[in-house]
Amino acid sequence: MIPYGRQDITDEDIAEVAAILRSDFLTQGPKVGMFEQAVAEYVGARFGVAVNSATSALHIACIALGVTRGDLVWTVPNTFVASANCARYCGADVDFVDIDPRTYNMSVASLKKKFATASRNGRLPRVIIPVHFAGQSCEMRSISELARQHGCRVIEDASHAVGAAYLDDRVGSCRYSDIAVFSFHPVKIMTTAEGGLLLTNDEELRTRLELLRSNGVTRDPSQMRSASEGPWYYQQTDLGFNFRMTDIQAALGCSQIQRLDRFVARRRDLADRYFKAFEGAPLILPHQHPDTESSWHLFVIQLPEGVDRGRVFRELREADIGVNVHYIPVHLQPYYRELGFAEGDYPEAEGYYRRALTIPLYFGLSGEMQDQVVDAVTRLL
Ligand SMILES: *Cc1c(COP(=O)(O)O)cnc(C)c1O
Repeated sequence: MIPYGRQDITDEDIAEVAAILRSDFLTQGPKVGMFEQAVAEYVGARFGVAVNSATSALHIACIALGVTRGDLVWTVPNTFVASANCARYCGADVDFVDIDPRTYNMSVASLKKKFATASRNGRLPRVIIPVHFAGQSCEMRSISELARQHGCRVIEDASHAVGAAYLDDRVGSCRYSDIAVFSFHPVKIMTTAEGGLLLTNDEELRTRLELLRSNGVTRDPSQMRSASEGPWYYQQTDLGFNFRMTDIQAALGCSQIQRLDRFVARRRDLADRYFKAFEGAPLILPHQHPDTESSWHLFVIQLPEGVDRGRVFRELREADIGVNVHYIPVHLQPYYRELGFAEGDYPEAEGYYRRALTIPLYFGLSGEMQDQVVDAVTRLL
């Protein structure tokens, strides 16, 4: 089976991880700090805070930005459920902004309309969470300007966009957001097995995020509410979690990030090859906004009207080609339907979903395997 995505692990990665297993720190130790610094430097943000997953990162990002019971958070339906669930963990309500049918990202026009209505109704979101789908940045300049006008904060769910660029910056620089979140799940651009990381340029947010990932406990006397009682002393000043990344994972991350440019370059080459191979085919290929340089986490094609997606999916799987579908619109999940969402609420995301098919794209995909995918897809159309 050619999978739709797969990690790349070298002997050096393995040696780095093995070295940690022989060292004093298995849980969060010096490697985590090194990894945070390496990622922050790579993207050009001031601070990085590593955690055990992007799901955890989104959760504490919401808390740090003050999301609480009765608040409202907006994201898009075309994403993994974690982008919406983070608001629910805080007791907030979720609402969705429909996608742009060309980029599959949050539509700036829909967002503008939704802000106008919300302004009139007096129920503005505290936070909006645009998602850089497939590795292509959202139009962050317009999104952040709209958020600023309405006094609302921005978390970029950049889980797909490690190594991507937007205008003059790398995604994660937080030029247009309060916090950006990366995922290092094995199918993403680079991996720490499980793992996530928050980026911010705000020192207070960084301090709060570090507290929230470690049970709300600090050992830093300058952060305590009263004088330290001695060198053993720690204080819990907030209700936090154990969301720490291990040094084992961070060592893998430090090793992987050295190949990040190569990972992304290869993905871009493969994407270019798909564009050339499918030229003239009756397919909708992923439109690239001129302000963006995607990291190509996913390559999604849309099948033409009248072609049975289910049949194409099954036949490609039977031909050992690991296609997938990203994403079932979040508002159509039973959990969200029970909160009142229904079919027809977000027509662009729903229409896209019915015709979308993710075909294999990852660092280790050879040209030969890719040709096999192209032939099989073309044959079935
Ligand atoms: C993968 C993913 C997440 C969750 O990442 P984990 O590290 O698996 O928790 C969140 N949002 C999006 C868009 C994702 O693709």
